[in-house]
Amino acid sequence: MFERRVTREIRIGSVIIGGGNPIAIQSMNNTDTSDVKATLDQIEKLAEAGCDITRVAVPDMEAARALKEITGRSPIPVVADIHFDYKLALESIRNGAAKIRINPGNIGGKDKLKLVANEAKNAGVPIRVGVNSGSVNRDYLAEFGSVDGRALTESAMDAVNELESVGFNDIVVSVKSSDPLLTIKVYRLLSKRIDYPLHLGVTEAGTPAEGSVRSAVGIGTLLAEGIGDTIRVSLTGDPILEADCALSILKALDLRRSGVQIISCPTCGRTSVDLIDIAEKATKELKGIKTPLKVAIMGCAVNGPGEARDADIGIAGGKGEFLLFEHGKVIKKVPESEALNELMRMVRELAYNEK
Ligand code: SF4
Repeated sequence: MFERRVTREIRIGSVIIGGGNPIAIQSMNNTDTSDVKATLDQIEKLAEAGCDITRVAVPDMEAARALKEITGRSPIPVVADIHFDYKLALESIRNGAAKIRINPGNIGGKDKLKLVANEAKNAGVPIRVGVNSGSVNRDYLAEFGSVDGRALTESAMDAVNELESVGFNDIVVSVKSSDPLLTIKVYRLLSKRIDYPLHLGVTEAGTPAEGSVRSAVGIGTLLAEGIGDTIRVSLTGDPILEADCALSILKALDLRRSGVQIISCPTCGRTSVDLIDIAEKATKELKGIKTPLKVAIMGCAVNGPGEARDADIGIAGGKGEFLLFEHGKVIKKVPESEALNELMRMVRELAYNEK
């Protein structure tokens, strides 16, 4: 297990990040925030998928007011994403936002920033300052010649300094780029400069297949170096997929042990069952189980149980049949048509002590 960088603790509603607390998964609703029902429905699904914190866009006063009911009924903390208008930030805090995300440079000047900071401080609401490739300070672009790690880091430091200059230090910082390598570089630089919790993400990473890989490379590399306190996978798609991907990244790094981890073989010339179909169905059916379990779905009995020895439970294909095994030991044989049901029965038995 790698050593995690020590950061300050910041409370976002019921979730604490930094200070060695578990890495929190975040996502962002893509519903119209003024549509309270649609927003809450999506939040419920995000929470079910393992999301710890969600963010909603607050583009106008109607959305800021809708936050009252949303934050009152949401099972997870809700962050308000605000640009340009300090009044939206004040209204969001008053309506229960657990954190606000602003750009101190575009909120209307220092006086307005001070008003927002004071309101947040009194309410115990932290502020995330975020810089991305599009919001780099022009002076740094001139100084460094491009949107590189130094320009992004200095721009983020300016945002932090602006908040600190109005007496606010309940801060989370993000510096995002759509380039995973630049993301890695900038967070490495930033983690040496500040001890505020870092919100990691590769922004605008792309569609689910491509974006998941880019996010896993950027976020995963940093987490493996002990950098990062909360993560957001950013995909052009259903936000539930973002939560799924974030959870997979944390599980791959052993930073989260919740739910079923499926170990499945790639199939080869020895496979004589429809393993891909069974693996896909099992992945869907096992999604709701929260007990940490390893389940192996292997194509053959020659190597299957041995290769998946550390799995709690598994199946290995034969000719029209499957062997069921526990911790590498074969315990039973069933026809292929019954394999999935039998596997699910055994998993539930382990997860819920069902008999
Ligand atoms: S477990 Fe068997 S079927 Fe699957 S890849 Fe390995 S050898 Fe091939």
